[in-house]
Amino acid sequence: MAKKNNSTQERKVNVSTKVSSSKTTSKVNNGVFVYTGAISVNELAKSLNIMPSEIIKYFFMKGKILNINSLLDDEMIGTICLEHGFDFQRKEVVEAENFENLQIRDKEEDLQPRPPVVTIMGHVDHGKTTLIDAIRNSNLVDYEVGGISQSIGAYQTEINNKKITFIDTPGHEAFTAMRSRGASVTDIVILVVAADDGVMPQTIEAIDHAKAANVPIIVAINKIDKPGADPSKVKNELLAHDIVLEEYGGDVIAVEISAKQRKNIDKLLETVILVAEMSQLKANPNRYAMGVVLEAELDKQEGPKATLLIQNGTLKTSDYLVAGTCYGKVRRMTNEYRKVLNAALPSTPVAVIGLSEVPQAGDRFMAFESEKEAREIALRRKQIKELKEKRMTSAATLEDLFNMKKEGEIQNINIILKADSTGSAEACKASLEKINVPNVKINVIRATSGAITESDVLLASASKAIIYGFNVRPDAKTRAKALEEKVEIRLQRIIYALIEEIEAAAKGLLKPELEEKIIGQAEIRQLFKVSKLGTIAGCMVVDGLIKANDPIRLIRDGIIIYEGKIASLRRGKDQAREVARGFECGILIDGFNDIKELDIIEQYEMVEVKK
Ligand code: GDP
Repeated sequence: MAKKNNSTQERKVNVSTKVSSSKTTSKVNNGVFVYTGAISVNELAKSLNIMPSEIIKYFFMKGKILNINSLLDDEMIGTICLEHGFDFQRKEVVEAENFENLQIRDKEEDLQPRPPVVTIMGHVDHGKTTLIDAIRNSNLVDYEVGGISQSIGAYQTEINNKKITFIDTPGHEAFTAMRSRGASVTDIVILVVAADDGVMPQTIEAIDHAKAANVPIIVAINKIDKPGADPSKVKNELLAHDIVLEEYGGDVIAVEISAKQRKNIDKLLETVILVAEMSQLKANPNRYAMGVVLEAELDKQEGPKATLLIQNGTLKTSDYLVAGTCYGKVRRMTNEYRKVLNAALPSTPVAVIGLSEVPQAGDRFMAFESEKEAREIALRRKQIKELKEKRMTSAATLEDLFNMKKEGEIQNINIILKADSTGSAEACKASLEKINVPNVKINVIRATSGAITESDVLLASASKAIIYGFNVRPDAKTRAKALEEKVEIRLQRIIYALIEEIEAAAKGLLKPELEEKIIGQAEIRQLFKVSKLGTIAGCMVVDGLIKANDPIRLIRDGIIIYEGKIASLRRGKDQAREVARGFECGILIDGFNDIKELDIIEQYEMVEVKK
């Protein structure tokens, strides 16, 4: 039966043969240790020509217990290199084991149109679930009678012989969760807005999410059967959120529907096809499959069960899979009607049995030809993941941006702006968008008034954005969420400080933090009044040094009473550049005479703090 399927032609391209699946490489070149990823203690020792025990001992002294096969992360590799007089450099290469970074470029002639993947979003109670049911049932009769559907997180429907894949968890949680894990599965967002209620907070959030992900929106104005329905009011409200409908000269299509009465559902689906065709969604069915895990669970009878969305290639039973850090053979593959499939084409959601463990939703998967290959890659991915978890890197911090910029990598800085009023949010946004730094684009993906909320944190996490609070703060719960999601929240009270900081980050010129360092202290032992000059303090340097040029402060009984600089520093009759501890000196403070015996003159300098 599968023989007739057009997907059973031989798959010519196997990603794993195009990408080196060999282990990470490393070697010393002109005193520079060049490596491509995490390596083991043994490998590093060999390359640097030292004993593995030296590395193990080094980390043991720092409280880390390693063995010869333990993997070392960048920081550890760097430390060991420096300890042994080598410079180090990490070269980025894409290996089969980090296949999420693969940029597949299929030849134009290998590409074929694929169905769009659609997510339905909108405010609560505006009819998302009702719409999903309406679509699901619209062509149930086309499938074999008696097929009891199983919930696999996505399903396909057909209109005019064209397929559409729907992600069936409505709302933006699923969308955000996927995106925050770096997986973008959605090609089109259907934004449901109830005609009797209009644009509401979650409608706006959904718009923000779709825009941040750069996904086209189709507006479904729902509940038009209701007496209070006012579609034109909805359209005007959308305009205020930069959703310009076709009838107003924009490029967003709106369809007026009733999900409950199943009115205009076909028209909505036809619009999806139209938008999909404009987006020219294509994939290469003649390669080994790759895509995303939509859902996964442990089935009591069948073991780990994962719903996969195939994004490119064809998945077949008998293929070997790596999903996240799990692997296995595709033992059985079914669609949402429990129909067993032998092959599944791009954009198809399938439930797969046969993995060794339960992967996580959002994990990427890839199919391989041999079990050995799949097993080795999964193992390697597991080790790398454990290492990364230990390191706990954050989502995006200003410092990251700064470092990335140094390496010439950054193009986008995503910002979420929360301000005390709509006016100041708009003002901040406008000023930020005016910042002009070559090769850097500042995207304000949300600018609203009000406190910083968990929803902001989720959006930030999903879009690797930094949250700026302008005269507003997050509450404790949001702060905790930000910590958990590793989202950076920065608070500013002055517009230009905010602009300056972002501009500096964009230029890679983040100001170094300055910290004061005490250089020395002198105790005043005697006062000399000189009529033309003022009062000279006869001092003993009791600690460190006193220099002529650095700033000083005058301390009396532990309280700072004056801050300024030295007008003149003398040793005996001579001008001095500096006076060390244990020596007497005369100090005239610039513009300040109200000194007393036993006052302390403390001198400090401002030094850059190494980050
Ligand atoms: P969700 O929270 O967005 O998933 O909204 P639901 O699909 O649960 O719908 C919320 C309520 O609106 C339910 O009582 C639905 O029956 C009702 N509803 C949904 N669509 C329509 C519609 O087109 N017309 C009318 N009159 N009611 C609808």
